[in-house]
Amino acid sequence: MTSPTPVKERPPITREGLLARDRADPLAPFIDDFQLPKGVIYLDGNSLGALPRATPGHLGAAAQHWGEDLIGAWNRRGWVDLPIRVGEKIAPLIGAGPGQVLAADSTSVNLFKLLHAALQLRPGRNVVLTEPGNFPTDLYVAQGLTRQTGARLRYEAADSLSGALDGDTAVLMLTHVDFKSGRAHDMAALTKAAHEAGALVLWDLAHSAGALPLALDAWDVDLAVGCGYKYLHGGPGAPAFLYVAERHQAAVQSPLSGWFGHAEPFDFAPDYVPAPGIARFQCGTPPVLGLAALEVGVDGVAAAGVDAIHSKSVALTQLFMELVEQHCAECGFEIITPRDAAARGSQVSLRHGDGYAIMQALIAAGIIGDFRAPDVVRFGMAPLYVRYADMWDAVIALREIMQSDTWQRPEFRVRATVT
Ligand SMILES: *Cc1c(COP(=O)(O)O)cnc(C)c1O
Repeated sequence: MTSPTPVKERPPITREGLLARDRADPLAPFIDDFQLPKGVIYLDGNSLGALPRATPGHLGAAAQHWGEDLIGAWNRRGWVDLPIRVGEKIAPLIGAGPGQVLAADSTSVNLFKLLHAALQLRPGRNVVLTEPGNFPTDLYVAQGLTRQTGARLRYEAADSLSGALDGDTAVLMLTHVDFKSGRAHDMAALTKAAHEAGALVLWDLAHSAGALPLALDAWDVDLAVGCGYKYLHGGPGAPAFLYVAERHQAAVQSPLSGWFGHAEPFDFAPDYVPAPGIARFQCGTPPVLGLAALEVGVDGVAAAGVDAIHSKSVALTQLFMELVEQHCAECGFEIITPRDAAARGSQVSLRHGDGYAIMQALIAAGIIGDFRAPDVVRFGMAPLYVRYADMWDAVIALREIMQSDTWQRPEFRVRATVT
């Protein structure tokens, strides 16, 4: 620990107290909506959300519709409307009015489409401004796109982004919540600063959608993308989503001008004419099974409510940090997640040079978090299925592993492909 907080005049945290807090938690019933292996504490919902119990049935039903209705299911079962329908369900979770959100493709592909759109909307400006710590796929996509378009990718440290906006900046492209540290940008303030410089914003909501309250319309956000398989529980490789503010839609086209974004795809006309509205950002045939699973996850988040989810997220992350300080002060971790609740997402990250092996030892003990190279141990708190008592059990297990040196065992140093 770099800076141990002074002991406050509060009753000490006990496991019994936390069990009582779980009993009083208004979100506690939602844990029964998820299927989790017994004996496991799952603190990796920021990487792959847990399985909603309703999802296998819903997937099975979609497969049945395929078997019964064959190609007729596209119309009869409303498959063709899924990208718009699921998009409309995601919209209120991110503070977006109707007609601006589409569930489609992956986050990476949507980034490509919207970054291209941003450059179209700001002819005469050629800089994409970002920070070097942005999520790698965001940087890679921007690198690929700028190589093709002649635009330039400029990196600026997270705390000096506003000052770096100038008359060349076409778009400020950022991820709201940093995947490593959990730090959250002030989306409203940075959006305002970008607009004052004449630039647009493109926000990646991968670590915020379904976990933090967002107000895209009220904050005047131009463009955004987000992930379906993290806090929206859409399942591995779930379709992602994109947001294009209504005021920009008529002026932009997707660089991936596939037939599902055509005004009349079933006219089979030889020339591309973009569909009106957000539908123009579709590309090819929608992944029906993936969208069916995503719809269940999104419905669950809507039923709980993002504000309630966020209140519990703040409490869980705060508790976890306090417990690390109280029980693991000698373990050699540095807490790199902001203490200010308004400046963090739904995760706590600890820095330790042996983080990989430590996380492997924790996973072997049934506490699943993850590791981000080179030295970050991450714990994601998905409030719909993480309990207050889990925070206690996880920190006590971590202390055990550190005190007993269990993490030094050779098998915990073997690197798997996915960390
Ligand atoms: C998880 C994540 C992605 C994922 O992109 P995919 O195209 O689904 O692989 C993108 N950006 C950020 C910031 C993420 O956290």
